[in-house]
Parts: sequence; C-alpha cells; structure tokens
Amino acid sequence: MTSQTNPFLELAAPGIDALKPYLPGKPISELERELGIAHSIKLASNENPLGVSEKVIQAIANSTPELSRYPDGGAFQLHQRLAEKHAVDPACITLGNGSNDVLDMVARVFLSPGVESLFSQYAFAVYPISSQAVGARLVITPAKAYAHDLERMLQMITPRTRVIWIANPNNPTGTWLSRDALFSFLAQLPSHVMVVLDEAYIEYVQHSDYPDGSAWLERFPNLIVTRTFSKAYGLASLRIGYGLSNPDVADLLNRVRQPFNVNTLAQSAALAALDDQAFIQRSIALNNKGMQQYRRGFESMGLDYIPSVANFITVEVGEDASRVDQALLSEGCITRGIANYGLPNHLRISIGLEEENDRLLTTLKKVLKR
Ligand SMILES: *Cc1c(COP(=O)(O)O)cnc(C)c1O
Repeated sequence: MTSQTNPFLELAAPGIDALKPYLPGKPISELERELGIAHSIKLASNENPLGVSEKVIQAIANSTPELSRYPDGGAFQLHQRLAEKHAVDPACITLGNGSNDVLDMVARVFLSPGVESLFSQYAFAVYPISSQAVGARLVITPAKAYAHDLERMLQMITPRTRVIWIANPNNPTGTWLSRDALFSFLAQLPSHVMVVLDEAYIEYVQHSDYPDGSAWLERFPNLIVTRTFSKAYGLASLRIGYGLSNPDVADLLNRVRQPFNVNTLAQSAALAALDDQAFIQRSIALNNKGMQQYRRGFESMGLDYIPSVANFITVEVGEDASRVDQALLSEGCITRGIANYGLPNHLRISIGLEEENDRLLTTLKKVLKR
C-alpha cells in the first residue's frame, strides 16, 4: 500500500491517498523500444488516424516566430472564433490545456471536502481523479446496459451533490444519451447542482436524436459543456479544449485558470483547424467505415461489443483481456485494457486507418484462436 510506503502522504491534502494516476495509452515509441520492433500501430487513445489538417501544419509553422513570447493569455481571436461558432458571448468560454484542464477547473471551483461528485459507473476516468484531488466524496451510479442511467442519477442527488459529470458519448463505452432523455434530466435538476456535459466526441455522432448541449446554455444556467481539439481535430499533443457555460460560471472557472494555460501554437492550430471542416468530414467518413469494419470483424469472430457512436469500440474478448492486450502488444498492436474501469474482459480499440483496422482484426483473431 502506498499509504505505508510513502512518508509524505501524511503531509498531503485529503483525497490524495486514494488517488490513482490516470493510465495513458502506451506511446508507439515506448513499445518499439521495449520490443525492439518497428511499424507498430496505436489504437489506444482515440486519436485521429488522419493526423491533422494541412492548414494546421501551416498555421504552426507561421507561429514559430512567436515562440519566445508568452501566449495571448486571453486568447482573444480564439474566443471570438468559438463564440461565433457556438453563437454565444465570448464571456461564456473557458479555454483549457486540453478539456481535462477545464474539468479540473470545475472540480477546483465547485468541489471540496464535504460535497459530493456524482458520475456513472464506467464514466471517463478523469472525473474521479479531479474530484478526489480536491477531497470531494465520489458517488457512483450503477450503469444500465453500460450506459448512464439518468433516472438513477436523479435519485442519487442529495443536498451535498455539487457536480454531476456526464460524457455524451461516454468513454470507454461509446454509449450516448438522446436529446429528450438529457433535456428532461437537466430540467429536473435542483439549482445547487452543476452539470458537466463532456462532448469530446460530438463530431463523430450522427444520430438526429443526439443533442448539441451548447444550444442549452441559456435554458440551463448550471450547465457546463466541454469540447476538445484532441479527437476529431487531431490536436491531442497540443493540449487544447474549452468549456462553454453561463458567463458567471465561466468567470469562476477563469479565476482558477493558469494565466497562460493554452500555448501559442495550440491557439493558432485550433483557429486553423476550425477553418478546415472538410478535414473533419473526411475524418468522420473514415471513422464510419472503420466502425463497420470492426463490427463485421467482431461479428465474424463471435465477439460481443458495445455499440459505439464515437471513434472507438469496446469489445468483450471472452477472457481476461490483459492476456489479450499483452499478446496484441507483442505483435505491435497497442489497444487499451480497461480493467481500471471495472471491465476486465473488454478491450477498447480506437478506429484507425483501414489497413490498421485490418491488421488489428487479423492479429486479434490469431491471438484469440478464433
Ligand atoms: C479524450 C477525452 C477528453 C479529451 O481530453 P483532452 O484533455 O481534451 O485531450 C475528454 N473527455 C473524454 C470523455 C475523453 O475521452
């Protein structure tokens, strides 16, 4: 136990003891160094297999003369551009060093020892980490068919509930909530509860019943919507995302924001990325084809999967997935075991390029002897 071996724990803030670090997907360079191989594929972190738009590369090149200067801490242009995109006032926006940074700001502003942070079983791992780091009590609603059970979440609200976290679609399950279900949930919330609606994968969702939460900001002043440039926009390494909320909420979030949390290259890249919606369309089309490829592949192997609307799919491998994960790794295929989410028999696989998906399916078939 860390609590017995780390002498500094006694000095640490409450909540740190029970905290487990976020488990990232293994970087390609690390696997190749370990195995002494080349040409591995990474389908573990829901990154865009197309890379980034050419416009982004150009924008970053154009920004290099600015490298020695601090970034624009107020990110004026990007605020304007995002305000336009979402038809909101620029004062509704909180920029983050990745959207995880915004999630962390929400936790620091609204959570503390004595209040409760409510989220679903199988919800995104950052919610418990950010909540626990500030000493809040974690309350977990059991999932229903791997998805958020909104009725149950409403029942679990207490006078101490302060933040409810909902990812739509959710990672690592790929499940989603309809417009009606989510609207009715939001309409029933008491005013002492803030809701974070994490829309990291919104670009990939095509259902007409899928809601864009940013349209509800005026109707629900306690709503905070988060978006990221890490997934469909392909800017994961630059770390940039944002929150959309009532300006009074954004005011509080911006009070705890680090002064230069979004760097110059990220700001320029995000502006250029927003200007290349054709790249997003290509990314979505590729994702749709890849999703079909995986569904067919899993079905032909007789494997159950959780139907997903995002850029990854979670499959049940019918045994302890850590063996399968390791076997895939030794063949140069990085996927994501999700035992840490309480799903020890599942692997989460990001949708890659067609040939990457093919290689993964072929290798999985070999590893599982199907
Ligand atoms: C990937 C992901 C994010 C994005 O995190 P960034 O910090 O913006 O890279 C946020 N929420 C969920 C559910 C995710 O899967």
